[in-house]
Formats: sequence, C-alpha cells, structure tokens
Amino acid sequence: MIFRPTPSFTAVLSLCAALLSPLSHATAPAASPTQSSRADQAQNRAFDKLSHQFIEALWRTDSESALGAGRYEFADRLPAPDAAARAAQLAFAEDWLQRFHAVDTASLSTRQRTDLGLLLNKLESDRWYLTSFRAHEWDPSIYGVAGSLDLILNTEYAPKPQRLRALLKRVAAIPAYYQAAQGNLKQLSHEHAQLAIKQAPGALGVLDDIAKAAATAALTQAEKAQFKERLAAARTAIQGFVDFVSALDAQQQRDNSGRSFRIGRELYDTKFALDIASGSNAEQTYQKALSAREQLLQRMDGLADELWAKTMGSAAKPQDRTEKIGLVIDKLSAKHVAREDFFKEIRRQIPVLQDWVVKHDLIGIDPKKPLVVRETPVYARGVAGAGIQAPGPYRPQDRTYYDVTPLDGASAEAAESTLREYNHWILQILNIHEAIPGHYTQLVYANRSPSLVKSLFGNGAMVEGWAVYGERMMLESGYGDNAPEMWLMYSKWNLRSVTNTILDYSVHVLCMSEAEAIDLLTRQAFQTRQEAIEKWHRVQVSSVQLASYFSGYSEIMELREERKKALGDKFNLKAFHEQFLSYGSAPVHVIRELMQ
Ligand code: ZN
Ligand code: ZN
Repeated sequence: MIFRPTPSFTAVLSLCAALLSPLSHATAPAASPTQSSRADQAQNRAFDKLSHQFIEALWRTDSESALGAGRYEFADRLPAPDAAARAAQLAFAEDWLQRFHAVDTASLSTRQRTDLGLLLNKLESDRWYLTSFRAHEWDPSIYGVAGSLDLILNTEYAPKPQRLRALLKRVAAIPAYYQAAQGNLKQLSHEHAQLAIKQAPGALGVLDDIAKAAATAALTQAEKAQFKERLAAARTAIQGFVDFVSALDAQQQRDNSGRSFRIGRELYDTKFALDIASGSNAEQTYQKALSAREQLLQRMDGLADELWAKTMGSAAKPQDRTEKIGLVIDKLSAKHVAREDFFKEIRRQIPVLQDWVVKHDLIGIDPKKPLVVRETPVYARGVAGAGIQAPGPYRPQDRTYYDVTPLDGASAEAAESTLREYNHWILQILNIHEAIPGHYTQLVYANRSPSLVKSLFGNGAMVEGWAVYGERMMLESGYGDNAPEMWLMYSKWNLRSVTNTILDYSVHVLCMSEAEAIDLLTRQAFQTRQEAIEKWHRVQVSSVQLASYFSGYSEIMELREERKKALGDKFNLKAFHEQFLSYGSAPVHVIRELMQ
C-alpha cells in the first residue's frame, strides 16, 4: 500500500502508444541539429507552460482534488455536485482534450511525451467517468465530506484560526452539497448504499472534532456562534442524507429495482483500459493471472513437501495439495516477533535491506535521503499495518515517512492474528514492498526526474507493480538464503496479488458468488477468514484497483525477460532497474517503448 495525498490515480490508455511511436525528432532529416534543437526547446517550454496552465485551471475547477494534491487555497469551498457542476467538468475536459491533442508531439522530450500521454488519459478518463460510469447516480458512498474536513483540520498548512475560518465557510455549504447528492441518486447499488450509511458516523465524528477545535481557538464570539449553528445544520444534512439513502435502498431492495454492485464486462473493460493502462486487456490479464496461480501452487506444492518433516514431523501428509500447503504455512506462521518488538524490528530491517541492494548491485540508493520509520500519527490510524507516507508535489520540503501502526491498542487475539500474518518471513517481504527496493526507492527515483504531471496523475499499476516485482527480485538475488520457508511465504504473499486479479475480474465480469470468493481466498490462497471477508467487502465496492498489483508486476517481469533476450551478455540487472525507474511513474508498456 502506498499513501499519497493525491487524487485517485488515473493513467494512459492506448493513445500514448500512438504518441510514442513517431520518434521523429531524432530522425527528422530536414532541420540542422542546432535549428531543430532550438525549435525543440521552444516547443518544450510551450508544452510545459501548457501543462502548468492546465493543472492550475484544474484546481480552480476541481477544488476537492486540489486539496488532495496539497493545494489549500480553495479550502473554504465545497461546490455542490449538481448537474451544472458536471456539465462544467465535462466542458473543461473537452476543452483541454482539444488543446492537448493539438500539441505537436514530434519535438517533445521523452519526459514530456509521457506527461502528455498521462494528461490525455486523465481527461479521457474524467470524461468517461462522467458520461459512462456515472457513479454519481448509483454510488452514494462517493458523497463524503469527512476526508477533506479532516485534511484541513489536521494539516498545518496555515495557522489554526485561518484553517478554522476556511472550515466555517465549507461547513456552511454541506446542506446544499447533500441536497444535490440526493438529486443525483437514482438506482442504487445496495452494497454502496450500505457503505455510505456505514461511513456517516465518521463524518459526524469529524464535525465533533471541528466543534472542539473551534471552541478553544482564537476566534471571535460571533464566529464561534456561527460555528455552532452551521455544524448543527451540517449534522442534520448528513443524517438526512443517511435517511434518504436508507429509504431509497430499502424500497429498491423490496421491489428489486436496485442496481448490481457488479459493474459488468463492458464497463470493466473500459475502466481497466483507463485505470491500468496495460499493454494487455482485462481478459488477457485475467488469463495470465490464472496461469501464474497454477505455477505458484505447483512450486508451493514442492516446497511443502520439502518442509513437511521439518514442520509437521511424522503427521500424515494429506493428498490434497492446498490442504498440505495450508498446514505447513500455518505451522510456520507461529514464528513471529513479540508484539512489543513489531515496530523495533521493522526499523532494524530498513538499513539491512539497503545494504543488501547496494552490495548485490541491484540498484543505486541515495544515502543522503534516509527513510524515516515512525509510528503512524494518531489521526491517520484507520487501518492497521504499514505504508509509505510521501509528501505531495506541493510540499517537497516534507520528509518521506514509513508509517507503522504499533500494536499497542490491539486485543491479544487481534495482535496475534496480525503477527502470524506478518510473521518472520512476511514481515521482511512487507518491508521490501513498502520501503527498499519497493515504493520508497521508486519514489526517490521518480523525484529525480521531476514531473508534476507524473506525481499527480502517475500510473498506479506501475507503482504497485514495481513494489511487487521488488519482492521477487530480492529473493532471486539470494535474500533470505534461498530458504524454502522464505520462498513458500513469498509465494503465499505473491499469490495474494495474483488472486486479487482473479477475484476482481471473476466478481465483476463473471458473476462469482460470495461463497466461491471466500473459498478462493481462504482455502485456495491460504488467507484467514477475516482477511477474506474484508476482501469480499472491498471487491464489492471497488473495481479494477485490485487488479493493478499483478498487472504491473507481470508486465515488468515480461519486460525484463524481453530485455535479457535482446541484450544477451550485455544485460545488466542494476542498469535495467535504474533505467526502468528513470522515466517516473509512467505505464509499463510506455516505459517498454522508451527502453527499446
Ligand atoms: Zn504497495
Ligand atoms: Zn504467536
């Protein structure tokens, strides 16, 4: 997982292939080198100016995304999500699509061409979400005000009284916001309706936090009185929205007129193309995941045989492959750190991983930018676990943190379950994924070729794919002594990414049932029942995102094998990694074109 204060990732679609193929500025015979490079620079500057203009215009149109990106000057606004707002967004997307399509791509630098691809994809994507996906009509959970309120209250971008004055205006707009939301909703997905209802207490909680902060802040008596009044109206509006959604959902459940949470093949295919921007389509990626799964299970079968006597002693070996593998994994999971050492152990491992990648010539790491491992700040502790907290593009002065939620607050049972999951081996794989050479290393490289466009609209499948690839690459280099235990646990972890892709496609396109999904996750992928139930909830209310990990990973593996074949003896793993990361967070198939 990677947390970044940016709007949702969108990515390039097939457009970028067309943009990338004519490398005419390198081969154009007409102009002399000096003339052409002067023209290139002029064009390059013009393009950078245009994308800068676009981003600034975007923040004015879409103040919620601006907040997510760390731009707080519109913090006091909360536009109502009505038809007029959508028409304006659509016109904005059409206008900028036209402007970016008019750019002469021939003289752009590599960085600019990938930027242009990402920008076109973002706009195509926005248009499609507004006109075809239309979540505003069926997904009540998109209407949340809590996240932004929380950001403004808890980010020290300005002195507290100033932030509270922005909140005072924003809170005043909440009733109109929910009024517009109610006007949009038609045919609800029951699961998304339930999610919206479940999220409401969180929003009320943030209003309580604001009330507390306002009561003790340096505000005038009049402002404090206004706060009381507006917070009360906002509470009423949220409660009214919950009542509206509950009633509409109940009625649609009764007369069976609701909408399925499954998005279906047609929407899935396009969403996959837009969000993932893979060289393969959804169906091909699903097929790849099925065969990757079988390969993993065959390997795990062999490893379980190898480890049987060592872990299970003289117990009879079951005939069933998955049962046998499951028993060995279960036994091994007992080896884990004590709960009070969880945080300490993660902190200890980071320099060890850094030494390993340097000594084994896997990738260069900038020693001047050490990663800071810290306990997750209290306001950000929703989910247990660990993740990289990277500064947004507008706050480059901030450090990158590796946030680890300590197990202090967990019950003995919950802590034990987490510790068994993040056992001796998986904890190391987690650190590889999140930190070195995974997300953190990728971020350091991305920051070296600074691109505001890529840090705002970068490709999520490339980012997750790199972290998943990093796990495999470390084990291939001998990390973990090639121990069968390490390979078995790695395989279980990798099977999770593979299974996410299978699950997502099966549920949304092939109508997989809940019982089949739980069996796929627990019996066939060795996950706990709790984990499986949580994943089932996630796959019902999200689509395509779960497929990003395996999609990115499998494309990187294919690209590496392709480069090995093409370069023969000249292939160098470290050089491959450094070149791969040098383009920033572009889709893997675009990087592939650039590496040719
Ligand atoms: Zn990740
Ligand atoms: Zn234990």
